[in-house]
This record gives sequence, C-alpha cells and structure tokens, in this order.
Amino acid sequence: VNVSASTSKIQELSELDKKYFLHPTTVPKAFIEEGPKIIFSEGNGIRVKDIKGDSYIDGVSMLWNVNLGYGQKELADAAHQQLSKLPYSSSFYGYSNEPAIRLAEKIVSLAPGKSSAVFYTSGGSESNETAFKLARYYWSLKGKSEKKIIISIKRSYHGATIATGSATGIEGFHNFSGSSGNDMIHAKGHLTNCELGDKTDPEYEGCIRDVIEKEGAHRIAAVILEPIQGAGGVHVSPDGYLQAVKKLCEENEVLFIADEVISGFGRTGKMFGVNHWEVEPDIICVAKGITSGYSQLGAVILSEELRETLVQTEQILGHGFTYSGHPTACAVGLKTIEIIERDNLVENAANMEKILKEGFVYLQDKHPHVAKTRAVGLLAGFDLQADRDNDVPFEQSIRAAKTVVEECFKRKLILRAADFEVGKNIVAVAPPLVINKQELEEVIGIIDDALTSFEKSLG
Ligand code: PLP
Repeated sequence: VNVSASTSKIQELSELDKKYFLHPTTVPKAFIEEGPKIIFSEGNGIRVKDIKGDSYIDGVSMLWNVNLGYGQKELADAAHQQLSKLPYSSSFYGYSNEPAIRLAEKIVSLAPGKSSAVFYTSGGSESNETAFKLARYYWSLKGKSEKKIIISIKRSYHGATIATGSATGIEGFHNFSGSSGNDMIHAKGHLTNCELGDKTDPEYEGCIRDVIEKEGAHRIAAVILEPIQGAGGVHVSPDGYLQAVKKLCEENEVLFIADEVISGFGRTGKMFGVNHWEVEPDIICVAKGITSGYSQLGAVILSEELRETLVQTEQILGHGFTYSGHPTACAVGLKTIEIIERDNLVENAANMEKILKEGFVYLQDKHPHVAKTRAVGLLAGFDLQADRDNDVPFEQSIRAAKTVVEECFKRKLILRAADFEVGKNIVAVAPPLVINKQELEEVIGIIDDALTSFEKSLG
C-alpha cells in the first residue's frame, strides 16, 4: 500500500505550517523560510514514517517519552474505551473517576520508599510547578512560611513555565523564562566538575551546601534534581551524590524533589532513576513515560510525611488543573504500566544497556572523537571532542553534535544533540524500551557510518 502523500499535499501542509504554527524550541525566522524538517504520519515499533513514506528509527523516543514505541494497539483501545464511556470528568470539588483512583494506587505501589499519594497534572512542567508549590505550602503549614527558595543545579531541565524555566539550568531556557526569580537559586552543581569517567566524589554536594549556608536554611524549601539529567546532556549522578544531597536536605529541613520526568517508569533499567541509588525523595515528579506519550499526563508523588501534613489542614488545596486526573489519560497510564510489567520492559532496558555499552566501546575504539560514553538502561549518550585524551572541545563553528545527528538523520535515524553549552557536543541516545538487540545494533551501525562521514568532513 502506498501511504505516502502527494507532493502537492506535502507542499500545502508545509506552507500552512509555516504560516500558522509557531513551533517550540525552533528558530521562527528560520522555520518560516525552511518549513518543517519532517511531518510525521504513522509509526510501528521503534520506527516512525513521515508523510513521504520514509521510515526512520526513533532513537530518542521522540522527546524521551514514547517508551513503548509506536502502534501499541492496546493503548489505543484503552483510550478508545475510556473516551467512549467517560472521556472526561473533573477531579475538583471531590469529584473522582475510576481510572484516576486505580492509577494513583498503582503509582504509589511502584514508587520508592514511603510514597503515599499522587497529585495529577498534564505533563512534566506542571508536575514540577506543582512540586514547588506543594513544597512551599508544606512549609507554611509547618509554620515555616519563609522557606520558599528552590535550589536547582547546572544543566538541569525542569520545564517551560516561568517557575520551572527559572529552575532550569540550561541557559537558553532559563533566560527565556523571563524571570531571574530571586527565590530560584542555582547551585554550581557537581556536574561542572564531575562527569562520568571523572572522579565520583560524593562531596560534590558541597556546592548545594554552600548555597544553603549562604541563603540560610530557614529560607530554602527544596532542592530539585534529575537523578540522571536528560536535555542538559545525559549526565549521570555520581555514586553517593544523591545520598549526600538527601542527607544534606534532612539536616537542613529541605525537601528533596526528584525530577523523574524522563527517568521514571523504566527508562533507566529500574522503575525509577533513584532506585539505582536507593534514595527516597520527598517528592517525585513524573510525566512522559507514564503514558508512553500516548496521552498527556503527569503526576507528583508525595511522601507519607507530606501527605499527612496536607490532609490535616482545614484549608482548601488551592491548586489544580482542568485535566488533573483526566480519566482517559489515566486509563492510558494504567495500560502503559500493565504493558511495562507484563512485557518485562524495565528488565529489557537493563539488558539493552549492555548491548548499547558494547556498541559504544566499538564506536569509541573506531572513532577518535567519541568520548565519555554513558548508558543507564536506555538513557544514554556520548560526547564528541576534538582531542578526547586532553579533554579539548571542538570549535563551536564545527557544530560537531549537530553534524553527527544530521548525518544520522540522513541515514534515517533520529537522535538528539545536546549542545546548549559552549564547548559541549553531546549526542543523546534513548530509543523506546521495546527495542531488541538486532535493532540496537542497527542503531549503532548507523551512528558508526555517520561518524565516519563526520570525520571525513573534518578533512
Ligand atoms: N523535567 C524533565 C527532566 C524533562 O525532561 C522535561 C521535558 O523534557 C520536563 C521536566 C518538562 O516536561 P513537559 O515538557 O512535559 O512539560
């Protein structure tokens, strides 16, 4: 069957796109000249097709979210059934619905430690925004309403609202938030000095300690961290780091928020990223993988202590979204988790990590610019450096990561460049958790060819 669209239809869509659709994280001026890079139309397994009918491997699960891959009919059926029965109901004013109730129970049963309740959102930014508000609210209920500051670290990504954008450490996003918010403070972050392969010194929590001391613990509400940073360049917390931050938080009456929007629900080869270090956060924020991108859903998972405090006040919880506890999104979430468990996808991610690491060793041996390869489950990446032995970056003008990602794209593999920072050229690899050995080897093969072509271009 020829599913591809005619040239005239592609042309038409492209013109309409340029005219009417303002795209996120895209240069508008370039976009209205060049038009869309690709218009997706369908997908199956780890592959997506565009409207021309060309098939691509989705090597980053789109935005690290399509963890079950495409064409999962059971998810479509779950959505269809719920849409037909009760598409939407509010969860304000004590109203409720079965999928939201059952999913909350399920999430709590999976979450680490003493997690005990869930607040629903429509995505990651809303989850982190909610976490900030609930953290401050919690302290005000405890009679410590001065505790308002949220500490975040360098290269973090926490979302696109004013608060979460301010907490975000990636400069471009941080600046675009429009607020330098004096109650959002950046610690320098261990990752300035410590990356995978470097020393893994748990004392790097020291820079957060410095901020707490400088600002005063009585003013700090929470620390937010991604256990493994995604957009900032796939930086893995060194062993001991999260435990040290958690201890620091406890000593100073500061809440520890784990942003597991990417790392939650199996992406890292364990159900949650913090499970790798056996740390129990006070708040865990999730989204993305909770529905595998098939529906818009996020959740904020609260510890028992937070829940107990929140449920003991007579005050109204003055926070919520129209789509908090959306029955269709929750039905898709329930089915997503059922598939993750039934098909052992967390285990598969852990097994595929080994294959990916073997592939990275091969790439590193063959290609002199590949450096600092890392993979935790299927959250992976590598640096490109001019001289990896001496830690020398490529010149900015070479746009190393972008070029390699572009070469992969030409070969029908979608990856993502993290090159927000001058001197950093990182390529992120995060395929759907359903990927198998053969498919992963195909991914490595394409990266291999792309790197060869990149090296030729360097002359
Ligand atoms: N937190 C992390 C770690 C993320 O990667 C993202 C999105 O990429 C977000 C928060 C924001 O999520 P959303 O785009 O769903 O608002």
